[in-house]
Parts: sequence; structure tokens; C-alpha cells
Amino acid sequence: MKYEVKNGWTNADEELKKAVYDFSVGYMDFLNRGKTERECVDTAVELAEAAGFKPLTACGALKAGDRVYAVNKHKGFAAMVIGEKPMTEGISIVGSHIDSPRLDLKQNPLYEADEMAFLKTHYYGGIKKYQWTAIPLAIHGVVVKQNGETVKIAIGDEGDDVTFVITDLLPHLGNSQMNKPAYSFIEGENLNILVGSVPLGDAGEEDKDKKEDKKFKANILKLLEEKYGIDEEDFTSAELEIVPAFKAKDLGLDRSMIGAYGHDDRVCSYPNLRALLDAPTPEHTALCLLTDKEEVGSMGNTGAKSRFLELVILELLSRTGEGTDALSLNRCLDRSLCLSADVSAAYDPNFASVYEKTNSGRMNCGIAVSKYTGSHGKSGSNDAPAELMAKVRGIFNGAGVLWHTAELGKVDEGGGGTIAQFVADLGVDTIDCGVPMLSMHSPFEVAGKMDVYQCYKAFGAFFNRKI
Ligand code: MN
Ligand code: MN
Repeated sequence: MKYEVKNGWTNADEELKKAVYDFSVGYMDFLNRGKTERECVDTAVELAEAAGFKPLTACGALKAGDRVYAVNKHKGFAAMVIGEKPMTEGISIVGSHIDSPRLDLKQNPLYEADEMAFLKTHYYGGIKKYQWTAIPLAIHGVVVKQNGETVKIAIGDEGDDVTFVITDLLPHLGNSQMNKPAYSFIEGENLNILVGSVPLGDAGEEDKDKKEDKKFKANILKLLEEKYGIDEEDFTSAELEIVPAFKAKDLGLDRSMIGAYGHDDRVCSYPNLRALLDAPTPEHTALCLLTDKEEVGSMGNTGAKSRFLELVILELLSRTGEGTDALSLNRCLDRSLCLSADVSAAYDPNFASVYEKTNSGRMNCGIAVSKYTGSHGKSGSNDAPAELMAKVRGIFNGAGVLWHTAELGKVDEGGGGTIAQFVADLGVDTIDCGVPMLSMHSPFEVAGKMDVYQCYKAFGAFFNRKI
């Protein structure tokens, strides 16, 4: 059989085109509702409950066909459909991540300088810092008050709502800036969010004892107190994320693509979740896993390195009447299959020199399967076994899924990793696959609608596997 990379739009019939465009509507709504990992979890819970899924920990005994979900500390999520076979014969996992590169507010963020108020940030994940200046920004996240009350914040991207910005230097004065390397011409400590420029009240008001030079900061604190009931110390127990203020948009005159913040990796997470929610009762228990912290190394108790997946499997084993001993858990993991669903780099003719075209991800050519990722000689990669690749291509071909293989650019050019290795560490046969992406990790990433839909089809086929 000839290996051919096919463009999904060539010879696409009307039925397929409609399915592709229809699926993108739900995905774009998911993107607009989930600009942080917490918001993605909230949205996932809502969609799961609407599809009849029940909280796992509230359930008693489970049997084939039962549909349950679990939340990991507000930032991780799993949904499951119990299969016909015992879990110790292996389950089907699709794992993706819902955190995206962004700027986090520092713990003591608010200050004023020269009659303007700013918030200090610390960037999260691999960003090109210069891309975050001079674009409209929003603040999303939570402030947890000392009494445990959580205030949810989302300012900057609804209708006539205010917005925020990081200023950049005018080109007229940019001579020395423009001669610096791109890595440093915007310094991390200069990624400060402009949030106000009006001083608090007149002299003689109750703020009389405040220092004269802190009035611009004081005014912001007053507005935060009035609007959200939060004070300055509350910032210390907050997780506030600065994200682009724009919504997901149809891209191109043919509307064939989506431009959005956070495709990486919601572009795999939404098809993952949707495929699980839509899955008929499978032979092998199907599990959709949405993890946090991938962009910084998958560590901590909400990342893929955490014990959450094992805990969920044990909770399931205890309810399906199988053993909850170490042997049962490890048999289940050892016999399971996992698609580590994450974005790949799509070949970009504007930067052709860093790609090796014959092994590159291609937009509109379906889900990109990567036997390995990593950098500098597959370091940090999960190198999937050939036996698993054979199974996966059999599953995809059997369901008419459009797929191709992908490496992340030229061998010596760089690279990257995913959650694959951490799932594989547990004994699970794991392989990477996902949507090829243009402008990855930028505030406005580009994905092809054809590929988003093919991911959904691929994950559905995987959950329904008969092998
Ligand atoms: Mn990713
Ligand atoms: Mn990433």
C-alpha cells in the first residue's frame, strides 16, 4: 500500500464538508468559554452533565454503558464510558492538555509608575514575548479569599467590556530595541499590564493618609474592592491569567481555518471530550483525560505526572467489582492503549528552512501521528512501539480517518515533548497524535477545520476499537 499524504478538501463531498464546518462551531464555542484550564474544566463538566454523565465519586457499582466523570482539583478532568470487557483487559485512553501558554499575574502585581497603574506578570510556558505587546488582553482566573470564598474573574473580552494591553515602543524611538535579538528586545520584566491612569479622588477624602505617589494604584484597588470585593492581599492567593482578549474567528475567505488563542491543546481536548461523550458503549472502557501543566513540564498534582489517572482507574475498578490491588491496577495499565493527543507543527512555506517536508505535519491532511517527539536525538520522547503504530493505523484506516505522520521540524532544529512519556511510564502503550498547527504558541494560533474534525473521528474510532 502506498503511503500518501492527502489533502482532506480534495474530493470532499458535501456531507463531509458540512460535518467539518458544523463541528467547528462547537469547538469555537469551547475555546471562547475556556481561556484557562479552570474554565475548560467547568465547561467540560457542563457538557458532560448535559450528555448524562454522573460524578464518579457519587456513583455506586458501575456496569457496561455507565457514563461518569471526575474533576482533579479544578484543573484536570476525566470522563469515562464503562466498557463490556473487564478493565484488567485494558482500557482506551485519549489524553490531552487544557493549559496554554500565557502570562500569569505575580503574587504582588499592582504598582504605579509615572501616573499609570500596572500589573506585573510572570510568563507561563514557551512564548515569544514580543507577540504579547500591543494586542488587547483579558484577565481570567480566580481569587481565593482567606475565608475560602472563590471569586471568579473574567474581564476584558465580553461586548463593551474594558480591555488591557502591554505597551510597546514606537518605531520612531526603536532604533536600539530593533537591533536586539528577538529573545530580549522585550524583557520578561517589561511584560506589565496597563490597567489605569486616573488618581483616586481629591485631597481631603478618606484616602488622605495614603501616600501622594500611590494614588493611581489606590484608585485601582478601590475599583477592585467595589467591583469584586477583593483587596491587595487577596492577590497573594489568586491565579489570574492574562490571555488574549479576542474570540476564536473563522479564518480565510473560505472559512476553512480557525484563528484563536489556546488551540494548543484545546484543539485536541475538545475532540477528545466530544468523542468520549458521543461514544456508544465500547468493548474496552473509554477514558478522556484532560490535564494541566503540560506547557511547563506536566509536574504537580494536576499535571500528567500526577497520580490522578491511577486514582480514577482505581475508583472505577472498585465500582466494577474488579480488584483494587496493585496487580489489578498494573494489569489494567499494562494492557491499555493511549493516544497522547497534542498539536504538531504544520509545514509553513514561509519558514520552509526549518521543516523536513516529507515527514512534516500538513494542515488539512488530517490527524498527524508522531511515533516519537523529543529533541536532539529523541530526547524527552515517548518512542511508540511499531506494534502500537500498526494497531492505530488499522483503527484509523478502518474508520476512514484522514491521517498522516509528522515530526516536529528538522532533526537539528529543535523539538518538543508531550504528556506521552508520562502515561507510557505507567506501562500504557502510548502514541502521539493531534492537529498540525501554524503559529503554535502565539496569541493567535491557526488550525484547519478539516483536521479538528478528523481528530474527533480518530478519537471516536479509537474509543470504539475492537482489538
Ligand atoms: Mn501541547
Ligand atoms: Mn504547547
